[in-house]
Amino acid sequence: MVQSSILGFPRMGRLRDLKKATEAYWADKISRDELLAEGKRLRLEHWKIQKDAGVDVIPSNDFAFYDQVLDHHQLFGTIPERYSKYNLNPLDEYFAMGRGLQKEGIDVPSLEMVKWFDSNYHYVKPTLQDNQEFKLAAEPKPVVEFLEAKAAGIITRPVILGPVSFLTLGKADRDQTVDPISLLDKLLPLYVELLSKLKAAGAEDVQIDEPVLVFDLAEKSKAAFKPAYEKIGALGAQGPRITLATYFGDIVHNINVLADLQSLHSIHIDLVRNPEQLDAVVAALGPKQVLSAGIVDGRNIWKTNFKAAIEKVENAIQKLGKDRVIVATSSSLLHVPHTLASEKALDAEVRDWFSFAVEKAAEVVVIAKAVTEGPAAVREQLEANAKSVQARASSARTNDPAVKARQASVTPEMHNRKSAFPERYAEQTKTLKLPLFPTTTIGSFPQTKEIRIQRNKFTKGEITPEEYEKFIEKEIQDVVKIQEELDLDVFVHGEPERNDMVQYFGERLTGYVFTTHAWVQSYGSRCVRPPIIVGDISRPAPMTVKESKFAASISPKPMKGMLTGPITCLRWSFPRDDVHQSVQAQQLALALRDEVVDLEAAGIAVIQVDEPALREGLPLRAGDARAAYLKWAVDSFKLSTAGVTDGTQIHSHFCYSEFQDFFHAIAALDADVLSIENSKSDAKLLKVFIDEAYPRHIGPGVYDIHSPRVPTEQEIKDRIEEMLAYLTPQQLWCNPDCGLKTRGWPETKAALTAMVNAAKYFRQKY
Ligand code: GLN
Ligand code: ZN
Repeated sequence: MVQSSILGFPRMGRLRDLKKATEAYWADKISRDELLAEGKRLRLEHWKIQKDAGVDVIPSNDFAFYDQVLDHHQLFGTIPERYSKYNLNPLDEYFAMGRGLQKEGIDVPSLEMVKWFDSNYHYVKPTLQDNQEFKLAAEPKPVVEFLEAKAAGIITRPVILGPVSFLTLGKADRDQTVDPISLLDKLLPLYVELLSKLKAAGAEDVQIDEPVLVFDLAEKSKAAFKPAYEKIGALGAQGPRITLATYFGDIVHNINVLADLQSLHSIHIDLVRNPEQLDAVVAALGPKQVLSAGIVDGRNIWKTNFKAAIEKVENAIQKLGKDRVIVATSSSLLHVPHTLASEKALDAEVRDWFSFAVEKAAEVVVIAKAVTEGPAAVREQLEANAKSVQARASSARTNDPAVKARQASVTPEMHNRKSAFPERYAEQTKTLKLPLFPTTTIGSFPQTKEIRIQRNKFTKGEITPEEYEKFIEKEIQDVVKIQEELDLDVFVHGEPERNDMVQYFGERLTGYVFTTHAWVQSYGSRCVRPPIIVGDISRPAPMTVKESKFAASISPKPMKGMLTGPITCLRWSFPRDDVHQSVQAQQLALALRDEVVDLEAAGIAVIQVDEPALREGLPLRAGDARAAYLKWAVDSFKLSTAGVTDGTQIHSHFCYSEFQDFFHAIAALDADVLSIENSKSDAKLLKVFIDEAYPRHIGPGVYDIHSPRVPTEQEIKDRIEEMLAYLTPQQLWCNPDCGLKTRGWPETKAALTAMVNAAKYFRQKY
């Protein structure tokens, strides 16, 4: 019999219950016991959903109050002394590491948090000491949660992060030099102890995630698999059967590692992302090893095409037999929303195309049944599925001939500005007349409570569109006046009309749909609700021209138009899975190109196209895939911006400054001005700009906007001085690190005053 399996379930609950409970706990509104009870309730509910759906292999220990990797810091005792010294209760210590703690004489910042592979989920990096000792928690969470499920009558397969991934994804603590993987020998006994405890508790199977196998691994990490899994395998009957799980990529380049993993019961691979790896992995399996075939997409919201999925599974069964194949989700379902059932407002046509976590649980079951008992056993489901798939493929929403015709007419010249930078700059100088060290901001100004209230009223129909428009105009007037008082050089309208930098555009483009409850965890208690690209994208009407034009009309200073770039719109949405992402990016680029041209025609001579998500789209491995991505990503940006005349100044913005590995792509964007994060990172990162003789202008952020702290004028001057070691005074702009929407007004005004004064000081000097 072919079993069905899920690698992990979303934790937030149907109505973001976990977010609400954790935030209430942080605000001292509920007790620790109440929070713990809510966690327990959610775990049980989620196990039950999967059990009732008929899933055979249900995960446990996939739950976390903040982040599953952070759970492992406590599990193995890798808690830096700056947290442990306070003797907080474990839950508070855990949150202190995740989000920092500032209260009652305690002041510790959080540990570093970074993106989980190429997803929008963030994990807390294991942070290790040179003399690191490990210690298994007295009541290991995987055991506790296994027993909790067992007590409820549900036998689960606990999930733990594998030793090689835990160390490879970790780093040496600040001021430490240890190479984490060198700690493997010390860490392994804890895995052995944990696994035997799990077995003793009744766990016959354990899922060990080793997703780093999809990376180009350093030799040391690669070599760590053999000793690690030999040690674990030596447990024999004293330990559970192990499923080693990989996802988000293929493992063919590391396939020889599998030969060393003969003690494993099964290997899980992502066949949604990389179906072509099937043959190579099957060939590398030992004679009894099982393949867990990840064929239900854990990263996207589309209904699984049963026919195609069943074909993939049958293909594996032919080679391995029914007892050696498991039907699984491609990865944890952490990356998809909880249930489609909450979407009451969704158009019935598109609703039929989607499948969220609860629905995906049913999908693995149907597919497993189809291959076990034959299609007749699930005929009804297969027929309904084929109908949905067919309806989607032929829907007028997915296919817009006008969009396709326009894409077919795109020429190489459309990607290039008319002249090179020197000529453009000469033209821009004539109209813009900017001083040296021009000052500007990144777009948004504080999104006050009042703005949210009015937007809410407007969405609910409590105020008329005219009233709302009046309100927005008033907001724009206020920020223009403030920018005049601050004496900034290039103004912005402040983005008061935008709920979110992607959603705002999605709502104005054909081809997008929106959900009401489809939240996905991004980090800690923070969730995002990505819009969904369902069909060919086009722009029925201008999206931002009215606000920018109004703003420009009330001030003589240059007004910067503000758009979200094609890659960021794509990456921060659920993309289509029926056409390549480059096609979707080009459609977005064409829509934005029209907007850019319309802004120019409306008299907006400076236009910023934000691409903060450009880097996260970078394929996980170096090589052809990365080069191909960068080509189409850069082309999309250029296509969206190159429709203007030389005199229009194109800006772009990124929220990071590590460009070393893809500097050429950044340079190829050919933006007249780039603004980047730099206040929190080393000014040395700017060295690449001189090394590569970057000819255009750059505004490395001069202060951090993520904190309410106001920088002094002197700090900003010092920062600019450091930057001048790498950039010429003619190249340098002065701006904050990112948009100011999350800040309050008092600190914003104070910080910008310091920034403008610092810029004026350097203007005098040069
Ligand atoms: N223009 C956007 C803003 O200022 C940019 C946001 C971002 O880079 N994430 O809010
Ligand atoms: Zn930013």
